[in-house]
Amino acid sequence: MFNLILFGPPGSGKGTQSEKLIAKYGLKHLSTGDLLRSEIAGKTELGLKAKSFMDAGQLVPDAVVIGMVDAAISANKGVNGFLFDGFPRTKAQAEALDDLLRSHATEIHVVLALDVPEEELIQRMIGRAKTSGRTDDADPEVQKKRISVYRNETLAVADHYNAFNKVVHLNGLGTVDEIFSLLCKEIDSRQ
Ligand code: AMP
Repeated sequence: MFNLILFGPPGSGKGTQSEKLIAKYGLKHLSTGDLLRSEIAGKTELGLKAKSFMDAGQLVPDAVVIGMVDAAISANKGVNGFLFDGFPRTKAQAEALDDLLRSHATEIHVVLALDVPEEELIQRMIGRAKTSGRTDDADPEVQKKRISVYRNETLAVADHYNAFNKVVHLNGLGTVDEIFSLLCKEIDSRQ
């Protein structure tokens, strides 16, 4: 198995690059944002609980997200590996993910971090809101909140994996294809 985390702030291009990477490497895409949005669309109890956090740009509680990922990993035994997108977002989630993967006799092999300046992130969220219909992309206050949550809570995930020398920083500015080829180079050198 080859498991990777695509890491970066909201609007750094994780979703776009994930789609290309799973097509090329046959990995299972595990985006907690997508899973939560489908719970909301299905009007499930979990979705109703998550929606108010997401609309405010806050993180959904760790226990909810970790439970969702646990179920998704168990439901996808036998895959080539997982591409985690938007997860983990806190140190507690990172530790829980390490434990979960260990219980399946595997681990995170690399964390590919997309570095994008804050000004550019806001522009991308505004652009994405026009086609995605995501309310959390359209509201300037929610955009700022999501970036500050990233800074205050999510950057700790990079520190966690840095301690194991698993983090590679890449320039997230450029064309989709340029960034994709940077990511592929890192993956190919590890497989
Ligand atoms: P995303 O699609 O990854 O930008 O996530 C959209 C929203 O879903 C975030 O702003 C959070 O409210 C929630 N969310 C997604 N992934 C997580 C996570 N790993 N932990 C907590 N909340 C999450």
